[in-house]
Amino acid sequence: MTINHLTGTDDASARAAQVLRTLALDEDLKWRVPADPVLGPIARRVARRFVAGDDLEDALGRVAEIIASGHRANAEYMGESCRDPERARAETDVFVDAAHRLPRGCSVSLDLSHIGLAIDRELALENAVRIARATAATGREMVVSAEGSDRTDAVLAVHRALCEHFDHVGITVQARLHRTGDDLEALLTLPGRIRLVKGAFLEPEDVAYAREDAALPAAYLRHAETLADSGHVCSFATHDRDLIDRIDHHLGGKGHESAPWEFETLLGLGPDRLAAMAERGHPTREYVVFGTEWWLYVCNRLAEDPRRLFQALADAAA
Ligand SMILES: Cc1cc2nc3c(=O)[nH]c(=O)nc-3n(C[C@H](O)[C@H](O)[C@H](O)COP(=O)(O)OP(=O)(O)OC[C@H]3O[C@@H](n4cnc5c(N)ncnc54)[C@H](O)[C@@H]3O)c2cc1C
Repeated sequence: MTINHLTGTDDASARAAQVLRTLALDEDLKWRVPADPVLGPIARRVARRFVAGDDLEDALGRVAEIIASGHRANAEYMGESCRDPERARAETDVFVDAAHRLPRGCSVSLDLSHIGLAIDRELALENAVRIARATAATGREMVVSAEGSDRTDAVLAVHRALCEHFDHVGITVQARLHRTGDDLEALLTLPGRIRLVKGAFLEPEDVAYAREDAALPAAYLRHAETLADSGHVCSFATHDRDLIDRIDHHLGGKGHESAPWEFETLLGLGPDRLAAMAERGHPTREYVVFGTEWWLYVCNRLAEDPRRLFQALADAAA
């Protein structure tokens, strides 16, 4: 009886997560919901927990709070799959401005498809070089985000090209993808921080573990240990308490300010875990997102843990 009840709940959670991931990818809803006079303000109240705000000014405030509380920060101007070259250049200007105005200790992350990869690899590289120059000039790291597996080859190629000229450009890899072990081997020969995440995209089973597959945390831990043992600059980016504890154990249960690794969580999702790691001396970073294209991001965060839907309902009514 209990088992049936739990299975039913799990099924409902899995279905809710699937619906949210599908809604996240709806290009039409992404514009219509935030602009809708009734739904827009409700959705914004839900988004506020995870998103700093619409513009860089909002992000600057959140980043300052994070740095004051002893963590490093990262800022991402949200957006993906931009299909207009002029707009991709204008979006790049926002990153360049952010690189000049964010405080020290704050890195910049970006989706290459936000700045041209969905149009042309050369355009993405040209725009990424502008951001790399601006971040290098202001002494901060730049980290390329991971996108769907259909883009992984192109993302890695642009990152490799950037590494020929810069040594501060990192990359994000997804433990879900079966190819990641091989990718890591090559990435460990390049400079720049390697951020390890589980992976947020809908993927076919032949390229990725399902999110509920026990092989996924096992793969994450395996890659995390490879990174930790390599001494390469890296980031363990997860909110999974069990994984964080296991990685901390692998690292000897303590860190120091100049350690090559860091623990990193998304804004509003793991402040307790970040504080616990900071207390043990590990470098820690909180990842702030800003911008008007928050629909996909917020749907993905809710889908990852359907218990967050209850919190979202409370936020919507607040
Ligand atoms: C700094 C950072 C950068 C990122 N950058 C990228 C990127 O570039 N590209 C990308 O694809 N993704 C990125 N992500 C997102 C990442 O891929 C994951 O989708 C996201 O972090 C959720 O996975 P998790 O490892 O945090 O743990 P989760 O799998 O969300 O688990 C967190 C906790 O919730 C529990 N939980 C989860 N679901 C349920 C449920 N249904 N019922 C009960 N408990 C549940 C788990 O047991 C666990 O304790 C990033 C994440 C971070 C932290």
